[in-house]
Amino acid sequence: MLGNLDELRRLSHDAYGAQRLAWTPQWLAVRAWFAQKLAALPYPVEHHLDAAGNRWVTLPGASPQALVLGSHLDAVPNGGWLDGCLGVLAALEVLTAIAEDTHGRPPVTLRLVDWADEEGARFGRSLFGSSAFAGSHTIAADRMRADRDGTTLETALAACGIAIDRIGDASVERQNAAAYLELHIEQGPVLEALQLPLGVVLGTKGVERWAITFTGQEAHSGSTPMAVRRDALAAAARLALEIRPIARRHPDAVATMGSVKTFPGIVTAVVGRCETTLDMRDLDAAVLGQMLAEARAASERFAAEEGCTVAWLKIWSIEPIPFDAHLIALAEEAILETAGRSHALPSGPLHDAAEVARTGIPTVMMFVQSLAGLSHNPAEDTRREHLELALRAFDQLARKTIERLVGERS
Ligand SMILES: [Zn+2]
Repeated sequence: MLGNLDELRRLSHDAYGAQRLAWTPQWLAVRAWFAQKLAALPYPVEHHLDAAGNRWVTLPGASPQALVLGSHLDAVPNGGWLDGCLGVLAALEVLTAIAEDTHGRPPVTLRLVDWADEEGARFGRSLFGSSAFAGSHTIAADRMRADRDGTTLETALAACGIAIDRIGDASVERQNAAAYLELHIEQGPVLEALQLPLGVVLGTKGVERWAITFTGQEAHSGSTPMAVRRDALAAAARLALEIRPIARRHPDAVATMGSVKTFPGIVTAVVGRCETTLDMRDLDAAVLGQMLAEARAASERFAAEEGCTVAWLKIWSIEPIPFDAHLIALAEEAILETAGRSHALPSGPLHDAAEVARTGIPTVMMFVQSLAGLSHNPAEDTRREHLELALRAFDQLARKTIERLVGERS
């Protein structure tokens, strides 16, 4: 696995980092490289692209019931060497090892999936392939999405042999899927702070994303006395500070005001309009709902006190997606047996695993520590010994899951 990761780095990195953006020649080259790896396996596997461009690799077992392992080979522009690739290449290693141990005939069918366009970095549509698989994709809303050069998603897909109207057909791959496992780098600082190599993921946090606009009165900065100002930025700034205690009341909640624009936005005017964005996340839907209500109430109070009005417009939201309790327990066992200590944590970023879990297929993820919590840039890194531990624990998890599937059947 480490050899493959190094090879992939040589193949797909330039001076600025990984260049594996989905639906580009670089990504297709990486996928062709992966197909060569499949052709060289000691046991023959069937593989094909589904209607949404996800690559499925199948090693038939004694039972059609399938254990699915996967992640994504695509990356954000100037990305790191592990995001996504680690999960795909670990899955390849585990599939190969189990094939060897069972003389090419495992007790259940083993499948590997390389999801298409997890990142959504080019067209702003994350989890493209896995949402098509899950049936939660909205073709109508995504058809005309365009990249910076004006190429539409529909055109880019067609260039890769994918018809946008057919992507829902990827749902046929759900047949016989009995469990889904994904290994991924944490992309955050939690495990490193705890000095732990590995953690089990409880689920992906729900997200509430809103555009909040405060409106006051634009006025001359020299002639308008402080007492009569209706400063939209002042109201927004108070909310930016207030979301911190609102989130801190819950252990894993986060709240971010990521964008603030002022109008007219000149040095000699009191701000008449302030456009902000708010992104709030938690694994518990009730907590997320409470945070949203508190932030809303706070914004109305601050607006009133600053002589302004406030309007909320939803940008996007997704409910929290908890992973399977039985698989969480198996992942915990596998990590304890491999690394001695474990930790359970929710994922702030979304992953393909969330789309799989939404369909009702029992799902769990395992995280390996990220150095300095960095990801989506070339500095992304994980200690090699931690990558080795991660592979061992993931292999254990796969074997435990197979035992469980066989046990459920008999
Ligand atoms: Zn990823």
